[in-house]
Amino acid sequence: MTISQVRVRFAPSPTGWLHIGGLRTALYNYLFARRNGGTFVLRIEDTDQKRYVEGAEADILESLRWAGLEADEGPGSNGGYGPYRQSERSELYRRYAAQLVESGHAYYAFDTQEEIEAAREAVGETFKYDAITRNKMKNSLTLSEAEVQLRLSSGEPYVIRLMVPVGDTVAFEDMVRGKVRFEASEIDDQVLMKSDGLPTYHLANVVDDHEMGITHVIRGEEWLPSAPKHMLLYRAFGWTPPVMAHLPLIMSPAGGKLSKRKAEEQGIMVNVRDYIQNHYEAQALVNFLAFLGWNPGDERELFTLEELCEVFELDRVSKSGAVFNNDKLSWYNAHYLRARNPEELLPAARAELAKHGMEAGDDAFLAGAIGLLLERIETLAQLPEAGAFFFKAPEQYDEKAVKKAWKADTADLINTYLAEISGLGGAAFEAAALKAALMAVIEKAGVGMGKLMLPVRLAVTGVGGGPDLFQTMQLLGREEVLGRIGSAVQKLAD
Ligand code: GLU
Repeated sequence: MTISQVRVRFAPSPTGWLHIGGLRTALYNYLFARRNGGTFVLRIEDTDQKRYVEGAEADILESLRWAGLEADEGPGSNGGYGPYRQSERSELYRRYAAQLVESGHAYYAFDTQEEIEAAREAVGETFKYDAITRNKMKNSLTLSEAEVQLRLSSGEPYVIRLMVPVGDTVAFEDMVRGKVRFEASEIDDQVLMKSDGLPTYHLANVVDDHEMGITHVIRGEEWLPSAPKHMLLYRAFGWTPPVMAHLPLIMSPAGGKLSKRKAEEQGIMVNVRDYIQNHYEAQALVNFLAFLGWNPGDERELFTLEELCEVFELDRVSKSGAVFNNDKLSWYNAHYLRARNPEELLPAARAELAKHGMEAGDDAFLAGAIGLLLERIETLAQLPEAGAFFFKAPEQYDEKAVKKAWKADTADLINTYLAEISGLGGAAFEAAALKAALMAVIEKAGVGMGKLMLPVRLAVTGVGGGPDLFQTMQLLGREEVLGRIGSAVQKLAD
């Protein structure tokens, strides 16, 4: 079914680097919009000046671009519903807050922090500024109109609070969670406008969702407790609320919500920028995140972003928390990495090698090394370790491998092989010839292949396992290989 005019939004606060949970929210919004021929809006919720982090908005934009989730409307675009930064919409919130005061759904409150603290102390920790207590506080419901006007005109600090009705129930149908009910008595009279003249999240969020024509609010479960407050605001304004869909929490493999600390303990990166900097495949993270709380209802697991757009349904999003599985993410990354052409990976590979102070060689050499290593790594960050021997001659030899490979007759065998292949000059120094030479030597000596192949691998790479040995030797080239074998024979003699 196609719902006409679907408009969804991703509404991050620029309070830090974009989190993978945020990227999943953006992704689900994007997919829902594409699936339904709708519009994906990016709105920056930057009304909390204390928590504002320089560079965070740029990080959000860069992360979305990297993941292929660019918004149809957002800061810098002319979507017709802008501006898309809340800090540029203050006037609107002021106007709507005043409207609520006028219609009797909100009121001015002049209580100082100390007065609220005193009230809390009198009542205890259960104190709420609500239908029961508001009559004893200093606000436009208890003060005379003249006094309210005097306080306002003399510039006394005030907030505007929502008048939460008594004994009411707020119920709504959530597309993920089903029927959700809250008692209004559990909710206190929300501050809508702060004393600095800026709106709170609740007011700005509701006003903007309404003003921007948002039809579906798709966001993380941590916002579920805010939903009834928003519903009360929609009611107070007399607006139809958008459809709600609260996405399941992302859980740690060790149990519980995936906090920063838990993520660190599990070696999980939580900021999208870490994946970018470690040269993950964007497709892999997208595919992985799509499955973190959703599945297509069959066994398929591999979907490009375009394919996801065709199959994504909100009613297949699960209610229960989704466990972050690092191995699964690596599996996805390996899949998309191996589908790449080594030439495309050159800049990223160079950057990863540079992190380890490794010299990458020319493009042809590096592409050759990547080609040989691709099946053996899951992320490009593993390239320097898995392929160290391509970029640097071994200085040491893996002890276990030496024990296994280097026997009393090894030096003789390997020297014979060395003499054989020294005769292969220029283009003749290639995998098939190098292999044929090895076969000839073992045949003559009447020994098994491993007897010579293992020591040669050890001499050339320093380790006991790796990509195809003869291809590796061809790529390294005659001089390098002869030099490495020669010095291994010297170092490993006796
Ligand atoms: N600004 C909120 C956030 O940072 C938006 C929550 C919502 O989508 O309503 O996630």
